[in-house]
Amino acid sequence: MARRLFVAFAAVVSLGAQAPAPTQPLDWDRLRPEILERYRDLVKIDSTPGRETLVVNYLKQALEAEGIQTQTFAQDPDRANLVARLKGNGSKRPLLILAHTDVVPVQREKWPVDPFGAVVKDGYIWGRGTKDDKPVLAANLMTMLLLKRRGVELDRDVIFLAESAEEADTTGAGINFMVREHFDTIDAEFALTEGGSATQDGAAVTRVSIGTAEKLPVRARLVATGTAGHGSVPRLDNPLLHLAAALDKLGRWQTPMRLNDTTRTYFGRLATNAPPERAAVYRTLVDPNATPAALANAQRYLQEHDPASFSMLRTSIVPTILKAGVGANVIPSEAEATLDIRALPGENIERFYTQMAEVIADPAVKVVPIPPSRPPSPASRIDTEMYRVLEQVAQRMYPRATVMPGMSTGASDQAQLRAKGMQSYGIGPASTEADALNYPAHGDVERLAESSLYPFVQYVWTVVNEVAAHK
Ligand SMILES: [Zn+2]
Repeated sequence: MARRLFVAFAAVVSLGAQAPAPTQPLDWDRLRPEILERYRDLVKIDSTPGRETLVVNYLKQALEAEGIQTQTFAQDPDRANLVARLKGNGSKRPLLILAHTDVVPVQREKWPVDPFGAVVKDGYIWGRGTKDDKPVLAANLMTMLLLKRRGVELDRDVIFLAESAEEADTTGAGINFMVREHFDTIDAEFALTEGGSATQDGAAVTRVSIGTAEKLPVRARLVATGTAGHGSVPRLDNPLLHLAAALDKLGRWQTPMRLNDTTRTYFGRLATNAPPERAAVYRTLVDPNATPAALANAQRYLQEHDPASFSMLRTSIVPTILKAGVGANVIPSEAEATLDIRALPGENIERFYTQMAEVIADPAVKVVPIPPSRPPSPASRIDTEMYRVLEQVAQRMYPRATVMPGMSTGASDQAQLRAKGMQSYGIGPASTEADALNYPAHGDVERLAESSLYPFVQYVWTVVNEVAAHK
């Protein structure tokens, strides 16, 4: 009897500790100082590659201080990964929220402030990682703390992953290690991480792009061989001439245009809020009845005015390195080019290499594939519960915004997750176009508008709640 009384008392006490009740909406104004402090704490940690464990130590302390257990996994002790899990009732499969802890290096002389000072000035927080990727890390951390504090009942586990070595993964200590050795600790139906963006125009967010797909880097070398000889004697098999001709042919080759659900929806929505000339181009791209001539014109327009969108239409080939020659009077026996090939999701790479060889049509030039560092990854679906919630919450928070799925022409750690069957989505805090251009991720100077930080945390929190909380 006494025991039962004690249990009942303990239950009441623990309920009392969960204030405010989960049904009460969060007071975002009151949370601002804590959000800013945690975000600044994270930016102040110099977590350039090889120092990620410093961030893990901070996160471990922050989570465990509020009763959230953590696990760390390290292939390299200085580059640890951290996992924390809030248990749901198991009626739905887990949701993984992840962010990378490393930042790219800095050139201190380029910075007007301490790059690891998290200085708040002119409405911005300045520092390396303020855009990439500490807003996502801070938002994920706040979401975990708030879920725990409010005792939110979950239909699915929410798994928090802070991963190392996204920017410079020379040994596979980050996502590759986690997927290979500890996948059971992060396996989920959905993943949410960096890889999307929001564009602000004046006070309003006018565009939200939710990352659902990315291209795959599959590099190759072109190797031309011939007979070495004296520079005074022209030879038909000079490898420099054969390599130059091969590059010219590849440069002129229009690889086939192919849209997927993401890019079709993307161009369709862009057409609704672009200036008239561009809107017409976007409409042509998604028009199943467009004539070949109209399609060719639209693509030429993009190639000239919007190369990033042009790259979303096709697998691209870009020569990036040339190597040949040992002396001005020597014909070398070999010349080589490196090609940065970015393949559309679902591209048949072997067949693509064969097509390249057919376009080059020169037995003196060989296409030598370079093994890719990431797995091929399918586009994530845009008809899932998670995608719908991401879209709806963005539309609710930013009524003037065009919300659309996006395909990155770059590569990210989402590739490894998508390759394992997760539906993975990318998000990001809002920036004006000018700020994204002048203070970008990886730029000489990086900064985030303070006014973008709070709504971004609120966005992550709201999405996670709508996807994972028990209704
Ligand atoms: Zn990043």
